[in-house]
Amino acid sequence: MRIAIASLQCEGNCLSPVLTRFEHFDYARGEAMYEKIAVMDLLREKGIEVVPTIYAHALPGGAVVKEDYLRLVGEIVDGIPTEGIDGIWLFIHGTLYVEEIGPGDTYLMREIRKKVGYDIPISLAMDFHADNTDEIPTLVNCMTSFRTAPHCDHAETQIRAMELLIKCIEKKILPKPQMARAYVVPPGDCVLTAEHPLRGIMEMAEEYERTTPGLLCAQVYAGHQWIDEPYMGPSVVVTHESDEALAKSIADKIAKAYYDVRHEFKFLVETAEPDEAIRLAMEDKEHQVFISDSGDNTTAGASGDNAYMINRVIESGAEGVLIAGIADAKACALCYEAEIGDTLTLDVGGTLDPKSETARITGKLIHKGDILAYSGGNEGPSAILDCGNMTVVITKNRASMCRRDIYESVNIDISKYKIIVVKLGYLFPELAEIAERAILAFTPGSSCERLQDMNFKKIHRPIFPLDDNFI
Ligand SMILES: [Zn+2]
Repeated sequence: MRIAIASLQCEGNCLSPVLTRFEHFDYARGEAMYEKIAVMDLLREKGIEVVPTIYAHALPGGAVVKEDYLRLVGEIVDGIPTEGIDGIWLFIHGTLYVEEIGPGDTYLMREIRKKVGYDIPISLAMDFHADNTDEIPTLVNCMTSFRTAPHCDHAETQIRAMELLIKCIEKKILPKPQMARAYVVPPGDCVLTAEHPLRGIMEMAEEYERTTPGLLCAQVYAGHQWIDEPYMGPSVVVTHESDEALAKSIADKIAKAYYDVRHEFKFLVETAEPDEAIRLAMEDKEHQVFISDSGDNTTAGASGDNAYMINRVIESGAEGVLIAGIADAKACALCYEAEIGDTLTLDVGGTLDPKSETARITGKLIHKGDILAYSGGNEGPSAILDCGNMTVVITKNRASMCRRDIYESVNIDISKYKIIVVKLGYLFPELAEIAERAILAFTPGSSCERLQDMNFKKIHRPIFPLDDNFI
């Protein structure tokens, strides 16, 4: 058996004007991609021959530049032979958004099908937040995604997609996944798989998968709310070995159940308007408090250069604050020209997104060095300024300080701070574990939480919460 593999991922955000370019991707070509994915042990164990192409994974962001995207697509398509392969496995996000093209994942599948035809199976491992177009299930044979949000089943998902592909090859079947939609878009940070009401929906899908003969996969997708297209929102994709009508009826039932619980999605962390969040954190003398700058969440594609919260912290007079962090290439370069211990006055923020604020800060330079990336690679230079009441991490590139090892990579001891402002929505699991208290602040920006604040023009209507009682 011979299987071609590829991975191309960037979670798109239509509100962010900051384009994603080739150099923003953590990129590996040929056999170098093996260490980036989780299916190699399975393939080796089964003695399956692998045809590698590329792995390219960027931090969520604005649209991918068309030319750079087409280069990546070309490398994948060129790397897949026309003959002599039994199946294709891809690990994608499902919301990759491209300048002038729109849904990049669908375009990629179309290009692959143009080359290999429809007689060999394609299986997708995806993100739980994929916004599936109507076309994508018609281009592939199996679709599965993470089943946890926050995500902690990356490896299991990749392996499940590969096992589904191997099953299709062994059984010589070409299943047709069936999709249904719910049109329910509460703030993404309310949609957590371990919590009510989504937990019940996930269990319902798993029950169908476990008990329905011939059912290969019943997958719930929450969708990703920052894509201004009619296909934005949750979907349910069910794949049966041969019975498409049964698969469609199960997808419809799960989607209806998702719609029926639409009023029950609630924030599971404390939420507050920004100034209120800082005030609550200052008043809490007993706990260390994480505040999420949710409108500038780089893991949801925002620019990460908004100094809005720095300005709010300066105005509040809060002490012991860590700003983790802010992207500003120029300010970072000025720090690199200075010596450790120098006092600098810098304008930070507002260099990527014209809507972002700038803040003037003065402090002592205490660190210079590369910071670890969201994807595990290197996110490039960073510098840390100790401004007395607050410590500010400045990064050359957009970054996300979502894991402990990222703080450690720049010598930050989180325990030293009273208030930690992060550019996230919900805290990633490692931070959630250490956070004594977490407050999600409804800050402005490209990853603002509430659909009613986004002014989208192209999304499907009716859609909850903008509309209600439409089914
Ligand atoms: Zn996701």
